[in-house]
Amino acid sequence: MQVYGLVGNPVGHSASPPMHEAAYEATGVDARYVTFEPERSAIADAIAGADALGVAGLNVTIPFKRDVLELVDPDPLAERIGAVNTIDFGTGKPNGYNTDAAGVTRAFEHHGVELDGADAVVVGAGGAGRAAAFALADAGSTVHIANRTAAKAEELASVVPGATGGGLETLERVGDADVLVNATSVGMEAPTETPVPAAHLHADLAVLDAVYTPLETRLLREAADAGAVTVDGAWMLLLQGVEAFELWTGLDAPVDVMNEALRAHLSND
Ligand code: NAP
Repeated sequence: MQVYGLVGNPVGHSASPPMHEAAYEATGVDARYVTFEPERSAIADAIAGADALGVAGLNVTIPFKRDVLELVDPDPLAERIGAVNTIDFGTGKPNGYNTDAAGVTRAFEHHGVELDGADAVVVGAGGAGRAAAFALADAGSTVHIANRTAAKAEELASVVPGATGGGLETLERVGDADVLVNATSVGMEAPTETPVPAAHLHADLAVLDAVYTPLETRLLREAADAGAVTVDGAWMLLLQGVEAFELWTGLDAPVDVMNEALRAHLSND
């Protein structure tokens, strides 16, 4: 039996175990998926220990995505993003990947949204914002990054090909954009808050909200009212997990089964 898991702090209510275990059951992979919650200071020991114990793969979440970068051999995309959310243990130094990026592009593709040639606004310049900005630029979009702390958006824009960045006034670009990603935590557990004023939203826009608690955020509700295509955060969560499953097992992921398990967990949480 193989052991996979999630390392983060906290990881208490994570939806990843039911999502991955449903995939193992559907594909006949003999594996379990468990959660690990080390102290921040113990992350290097935790990764080395998992490797020594023969753990096959780990997902990585807050607050460890950047810490883990120097503990693994990151692929070029994870290195550019500056964060690892998936580790594959094999022989030698563990390999690190960032499947949040694929979670963003695959979520839009799943909803029929063309990213090549699109004008995209990413709000947020933390871990999710970095993954979204690189993913969209690599898919052929022109990316504009809006962040509360303008300097972080400007720094990110300087390394993402063709991107611009600034403070929240950059949100005015949403009016002419094709694609919008909320990669801030605004709206999480706070249904009255939104990162983007409704006045900017319009019918030619596709909106992905990385927030998935709640699934229907104020941003997505107002985007739907404006006639936009809406993509909730569970799609990003699902499709980063699909990408990790495929990296680890080399199999096609049972996407529908994983989606059902994920949404059942989120609706009970
Ligand atoms: P992070 O690295 O801590 O970044 C947080 C971002 O939110 C920063 O850009 C921050 O701006 C901004 N922000 C926070 N509070 C704000 C406020 N009141 N007004 C305006 N901006 C604010 O976090 P992260 O890892 O990128 O995660 C961001 C969100 O994405 C979280 O809700 C997380 O759950 C979600 N996420 C979802 C998935 C998925 O698969 N669906 C994957 C990853 C993350 P400053 O720079 O100015 O502080």
